[in-house]
Amino acid sequence: MSNLDLLRGKMHSSGVSALLVSHNDSIGWLTGFTGSFARVVVTPDRALFVTDSRYTIQAQEQVAGIPVVSFASPIDGDEFVGEQVLELGIHRIGFESANATYSTWERWTHKFAAVELFPVADLFGALRMIKTPEEVEKIRAACAITDAAFEHVCRLIRPGMSEFDLGLELEFFIRRQGADIAFDPIVVSGNRSARPHGRASEKLLEVGDFLTLDFGAKFNGYNSDITRTVIIGQASDRHREIYEQVLKAETSSMAAMKPGVRASAVDKLSRDILNEKDLAQYFGHGLGHGLGKLVHDSGRMNPTSEDVLAVGQVWTVEPGVYIEGFGGCRIEDDVVVTETGVHVLTRATKEMLVLPRA
Ligand code: ZN
Ligand code: ZN
Repeated sequence: MSNLDLLRGKMHSSGVSALLVSHNDSIGWLTGFTGSFARVVVTPDRALFVTDSRYTIQAQEQVAGIPVVSFASPIDGDEFVGEQVLELGIHRIGFESANATYSTWERWTHKFAAVELFPVADLFGALRMIKTPEEVEKIRAACAITDAAFEHVCRLIRPGMSEFDLGLELEFFIRRQGADIAFDPIVVSGNRSARPHGRASEKLLEVGDFLTLDFGAKFNGYNSDITRTVIIGQASDRHREIYEQVLKAETSSMAAMKPGVRASAVDKLSRDILNEKDLAQYFGHGLGHGLGKLVHDSGRMNPTSEDVLAVGQVWTVEPGVYIEGFGGCRIEDDVVVTETGVHVLTRATKEMLVLPRA
């Protein structure tokens, strides 16, 4: 079934007879288009792809199965889209409300004078959560690049190196594989590792630091997202205890994941395991998120999530413990849900590494 068919099924069950798709991520998922401007009009039996002259040729190449029309200056884009909608015989059309600011809505209301607009809540999120085998392979390829990047920097990590330099090494390695960085690498050490989303700084690595690296590659449009925590120079009992418990929370959570299980139940399990050592109080964020074309794709594993695991979903699993004044430890892998459990896509070692190796 094509993604267009999947969307039509969702529109039908949501009572939406015509939809104006305007969010670039929705358009990319629906058509494969990677440009920065397009609109797609979808009804139960018609569809039209609208872009501007910058993307006419690209759209003809990338968009299969949907007629492409484009406009050029001085034609007003919104008026053009409004006319196309009317020509399709549509007098009432839903728009993606999460992607329209108040001023966008005002403009459309004005330009689509003869067409009534109504807001539609996100129809794409639940569809995008389920990845095709081809999408999973692309994520797996992005994961392989991050695995190799981790192995590469493990040979370089030593006291006196700055977080900045380490971040650059990660970035350079990933780009040299022909990929983009999925996001600015998080490189935090010592006290700074207690900041779950701290950015790399000029701080130098010191003996006794926890060092957390959270980074990803974007390859063929799909992302990986991995976190590893290592210890610089020498590990204390406290390091060991925290690392082992975070790892146990991570692996036990992954072992509990299978179709039909609630995301919130997996999140709770991770907290219960951290609490065996009284550590859940230091775990402030959700256990994981969906992963795909976006690093934070639809899907959340947290205490209030309504999501239920299903075959083909790709998730991150990333428990962490962050103790102000001491440091933090997070371990994150990417997994795809299978019929019987999950398959782990990231393969970098999770053995507790003390670097540099003696
Ligand atoms: Zn991450
Ligand atoms: Zn993540």
